[in-house]
Amino acid sequence: MHDVDLFQAALGLEEPWEVVGVEFDAAERRLDLRIDFPKGARFACPECGRAGCPVHDTEPHTWRHLNFFQHEAYLHARVPRVDCPEHGVKQVQVPWARGRSDFTLLFEALVMALVKEMPVKAIGRLVGEHDTKIWRVVHYYVDRAVDAQDLSRMRELGIDDTSFRRGQSYVSVFCDLDPSQRRAVFVADGRGQETVEQFAGFLGAHGGCSENIKEVCQDMSQPYLAGVRDNLSRAEVTFDRYHVKQKLSEAIDTIRRAEAKDHKQLLKNTRYLWLKRPKNLTAKQVDWLDQLLQHPLQTVRAYEQALRFDDFYELDADAAEEYLRRWVEEARATELQPLIDFAEMLESHWQGVIRWHHSQVSNGLLEGLNSLVQAAKRRARGYRSSRNYKTMIYLVAGKLNAGPQLA
Ligand SMILES: [Zn+2]
Repeated sequence: MHDVDLFQAALGLEEPWEVVGVEFDAAERRLDLRIDFPKGARFACPECGRAGCPVHDTEPHTWRHLNFFQHEAYLHARVPRVDCPEHGVKQVQVPWARGRSDFTLLFEALVMALVKEMPVKAIGRLVGEHDTKIWRVVHYYVDRAVDAQDLSRMRELGIDDTSFRRGQSYVSVFCDLDPSQRRAVFVADGRGQETVEQFAGFLGAHGGCSENIKEVCQDMSQPYLAGVRDNLSRAEVTFDRYHVKQKLSEAIDTIRRAEAKDHKQLLKNTRYLWLKRPKNLTAKQVDWLDQLLQHPLQTVRAYEQALRFDDFYELDADAAEEYLRRWVEEARATELQPLIDFAEMLESHWQGVIRWHHSQVSNGLLEGLNSLVQAAKRRARGYRSSRNYKTMIYLVAGKLNAGPQLA
């Protein structure tokens, strides 16, 4: 087989396209493939598909292709514009690349495979292209996959925020909580009320309906609550149990920090003993905690009260509400202000806390998705805008099939 024919076969070129030249430059580690069509060839109109339109003129273009062993490979061709009787002069879509991309579809497929595994900057270094060009490819395919989502069956929504730029900026992540669909479906800038409105619009534009959303799981943020009330009128809100627990942990930590001023030696380096679940402590930490629990400390009282809070989620629905009422009274009786504040927050968000026993929804954003989102944050590090960060969240948590459709 002639080398031109070999490359012709390797590229899967179809008539009238053919490889007309192959140049190896061993010193430059470069392979240049020239592709062309015979004089008088005709092409289909890209608008209407009408076959046999004559070529009006051509424009030369170069595409980066997959490396050929250690050689960087480039395709060169003159891209024809055809003259369609109906649509006038239109540029033909070449079969090996999309639109005006400088990469072939196979090269872009490689980028989309790599981006799930490594940072964009590293891909840029690996393939010898500037990372802004790599990002352009990633954005294109992720945007397209996000846009192609069908949300017609979405019923349960989880909302959570996540920060970037060292906690200075936020995005809101909207998830389908259906166990078989569980994934991020929409990411909005900020964490205000308007993000819920944006989500409702997105839902409607993707086959869904805001009235379909029956359950919402969120933290106790007022803006999300107001957004849900105004835009998802059929939804019942459950406050995410991990967020509720987080608030309780903060209360214990506040008590510990205040008390540590008078009991420096005793409470030094004990933060995690109080915040971790006992089953997640090492044997040594359990012994240490057992010793601390012998001391008449406010932190100990708060800790023991907090442990009893977990039972609220374990009880069955009938018993749970009564249990929580008693718990709130006990928390008040401790006379520890951070615990009292927490108990009052429970009371002012009562329905959404109790709702868990009916909906059983939790975000798990903090569990599964959040670790993915944290990984995305590391990968999108160094970027000032939310654009790259949002794209990374879609990539890792969106279960999208983003990339070129290769035959
Ligand atoms: Zn046409």
